[in-house]
Amino acid sequence: MESRTDLAEDLMSRFPHVPREAVLKEDLLRGGLAFDDAALTDNEHGDVKPKSYFIFSFDHRTLPELGTAALRRPPEEIVLTGGPYELRRTVVSVRTNPSSPYRVGTDSDGRLRLFLDGQPIADVGLPPMPAYYRHTLANGKSVMEVAPTIQWGYLIYLTAFRVCQYFGAKEECQYCDINHNWRQHKQAGRPYTGVKPVDEVLEALEIINRHDTDRASQAYTLTGGSITSQVGGLAEADFYGQYAQAIEERFPGRWIGKVVAQALPRADVQRFHDYGIRIYHPNYEVWDKRLFELYCPGKERYVGREEWHRRILDSAEVFGPRNVIPNFVAGVEMAAPHGFTSVDEAIDSTAEGLEYFMSRGITPRFTTWCPEPTTPLGRTNPQGAPLEYHVRLLEVYRATMDAHGLSSPPGYGPAGPGRAVFSVSSFMDTLPATDS
Ligand code: SF4
Repeated sequence: MESRTDLAEDLMSRFPHVPREAVLKEDLLRGGLAFDDAALTDNEHGDVKPKSYFIFSFDHRTLPELGTAALRRPPEEIVLTGGPYELRRTVVSVRTNPSSPYRVGTDSDGRLRLFLDGQPIADVGLPPMPAYYRHTLANGKSVMEVAPTIQWGYLIYLTAFRVCQYFGAKEECQYCDINHNWRQHKQAGRPYTGVKPVDEVLEALEIINRHDTDRASQAYTLTGGSITSQVGGLAEADFYGQYAQAIEERFPGRWIGKVVAQALPRADVQRFHDYGIRIYHPNYEVWDKRLFELYCPGKERYVGREEWHRRILDSAEVFGPRNVIPNFVAGVEMAAPHGFTSVDEAIDSTAEGLEYFMSRGITPRFTTWCPEPTTPLGRTNPQGAPLEYHVRLLEVYRATMDAHGLSSPPGYGPAGPGRAVFSVSSFMDTLPATDS
């Protein structure tokens, strides 16, 4: 049987214009990585920034199955350099999988390395504990719980509502573990606030603003589950918008404001903009019509795919097409039993969606699918999608951007191999170098 090393090296040689850093990063994101105990953190009391579980679990096992990693969290991200592939600096979000052929541990010299099939392939750097994580709110809550940062400190991730009102098998998106992740943290006795009070968010941001003296944090994302009725008496646009309004009043222009929400009617989208949001992510999840209907039953029933797409185009008139950046979950196109069975078909379908939006000046982006074990698609596809799909997607993504004269989307930090900080997909590592 072909080893993972053989698989990765075969793709590096067949797709030489895709950075080899991106090939390895995609493999780590789709399949996860294991940690020796020595590479775990001391949670919020050590020198390494721990994994915050900022929205989904992004793990290949449930918390009780993670062993020591459930007690001493793994780091939020790792940064890879050097090794036999001479990797340029590559930031990778941590998705824990004790069975992965990728393992972080120490070598005989005591250096932290990434091993693949038992061989060292990169030096590993860990994110330092940010000064603002060493402070707590007046009520004792941690900044990591209320306003964690990811992407090497670039993005403050504000999951204001930790559950989704699309609930249960008939409504939840089939690849999403937001509701399970909330339950497992509650069951483990971890602090995990369901609805974050606006005052707490402002207090956490105050601490970040005070201690982030080199201004690594450049953007915030407001997000959480979909709201089909109300939370705290507010519908979706006003619920998420209230945070932006308060943040922009207190810290005008300090960060780029982004919101990940449903594709809402134009008047609601306008309210997001009026509240001070500058980038809107109405995620379309998967392009193919049949798969969208099967994978996103709640969204299909409440809004419908065609209406969802129409609203994305409408929102470009409010925000400007460059500032509308809908996400899709890269890899679910190939999930059994309903997905495409060949990489060619899956890429063709995904490319059709990219063409649809990019030809209108809208630049989608993608998150590499993590097949979490408590989701229907993760259960039936624990290996995720083929690595070749992910590598070819990077190729077609860049080609479609080039064809329409588009450049890397705003709000993601620098682009290019060795520079990108976006950690849950390698699309930014694959685009031409920019500084911001
Ligand atoms: S809308 Fe779907 S992807 Fe988004 S939080 Fe709800 S279940 Fe998850």
